[in-house]
Amino acid sequence: MKIDTTGLKSFIPEEEIFQLLENTKNPLPERVREIIAKSLAKNRLDPEEMAVLINAEDPALVEEIFEGARELKKRVYGNRIVLFAPLYIGNECVNDCQYCGFRSSNPDVLRKTLTLQELDGEVEALVKRGHKRLILVYGEHPHYGAQFIHDSVQEVYKQKHGNGEIRRVNINAAPLDVEGFKKVKSAGIGTYQIFQETYHPETYQAMHPSGPKSDYLWRLHGLDRAQEAGIDDIGIGALMGLFNWRFETMALLYHTIHLEEKFNVGPHTISFPRIEPAIGTDLCDRPPHEVSDYDFKRLIAILRLAVPYTGLILTCRESVELRNEIIEFGVSQIDAGSDIGIGAYSQNDEEAYKKSQFVLNDGRSLDQVIRELCEADFIPSFCTGCYRLGRTGEHFMEFAIPGFVKRFCTPNAVLTFLEYMEDYSSPETKVSGMKQIERELERMPEGDQKLQLLERIAQIKDGQRDLYF
Ligand code: SAM
Ligand code: SF4
Repeated sequence: MKIDTTGLKSFIPEEEIFQLLENTKNPLPERVREIIAKSLAKNRLDPEEMAVLINAEDPALVEEIFEGARELKKRVYGNRIVLFAPLYIGNECVNDCQYCGFRSSNPDVLRKTLTLQELDGEVEALVKRGHKRLILVYGEHPHYGAQFIHDSVQEVYKQKHGNGEIRRVNINAAPLDVEGFKKVKSAGIGTYQIFQETYHPETYQAMHPSGPKSDYLWRLHGLDRAQEAGIDDIGIGALMGLFNWRFETMALLYHTIHLEEKFNVGPHTISFPRIEPAIGTDLCDRPPHEVSDYDFKRLIAILRLAVPYTGLILTCRESVELRNEIIEFGVSQIDAGSDIGIGAYSQNDEEAYKKSQFVLNDGRSLDQVIRELCEADFIPSFCTGCYRLGRTGEHFMEFAIPGFVKRFCTPNAVLTFLEYMEDYSSPETKVSGMKQIERELERMPEGDQKLQLLERIAQIKDGQRDLYF
């Protein structure tokens, strides 16, 4: 792959962002409320409006922003939470990202790439826990080219264990060229995620001193190339803690607007990982712009309001308490039962931490997360219906088409969750889960749709699998 950035320009207007953040200081409460109302009417916000929300510092106003995010989540998306697991394929890396345990200059990390047989073992372990959706994660290395990624995705889809299989594979890997993206798309991937890490060019250079990732523009335009290759389901993100969170949050909006304008479709998901401790990596113990829990909650609520149609992902990097609180702000996907030591789902490896990119804070099992979600009145979902019926951009449809969530998403959540309980859950979780399904059914209006759902529920209890609307 040849990195060619001829003619590429940045679409992140650095000066304009700083100006907007400066010009909107001390906003009037009415203005903040007006902007929240615009978002609740299902409109994407403009950068100036986001800057106003960012500058609302008064705790009472911040609470109104939190409440706005909760309300938007309830009104548009209901109480579903989609579950997935990350699967690390290999930690060889030619880049030297200063915050990452896998960086090339780290002598403490144990390098490892799963063999096909080991990959099968990992997938088997995940399927047997009940997972249906994975994100495969790769370091950046000549070994992990487009063909390699393609082949590993196909290997995952091949596996069948009992009633289970992985039905959707997403990717988090280095940006490819258009041909490379086409190759990976042909394996039937879901979302391709690339995080810019920091949108601030100077910080970017300092954090990525060498390797292909040191080219800011190549990465910034990575998802444009994915779109050009026909991958219209893409995820953006920034690693919070490298530079000022206010700037990064604004830049995520500018990236969104760029994609909307150029491809008519914004990002499927936005991620906002915070830096976690990593083996042999001092920078992570003192991130240059550490984001407090409070500001982290603010930036997520503001992103929810600013891009109401997009999915928000919150990972096991965060603690249980914080995850439980933030989930209400409109997070749509979480990972659960995650293990990021390479090979750690299937092998008991005392050295797994030496093969991990960073350390996780939520160590609950999938079963436990599911039980707690039900107890908090969420409905866990393993749905892959839209993706498999070619309804891509489903998150946008959920948002834009009245009744879509009621017609497709909630029934599919119920069906996939019931499968989970029939095949994998502990007896205790099954009790909480069946109560949750009862609650969902009570909330559904009587009619054909409910009858169809009841019929499929009976079929799943009878042993059928993979039913969806
Ligand atoms: N190597 C590819 C790349 O850099 O694009 C794939 C992604 S990397 C394995 C996954 C993501 O983890 C990175 O994009 C970065 O945002 C995040 N990450 C790296 N180091 C981290 C740390 N110490 N704490 C939390 N997240 C981290
Ligand atoms: Fe390599 Fe990705 Fe880690 Fe950077 S973030 S060192 S590219 S694995």
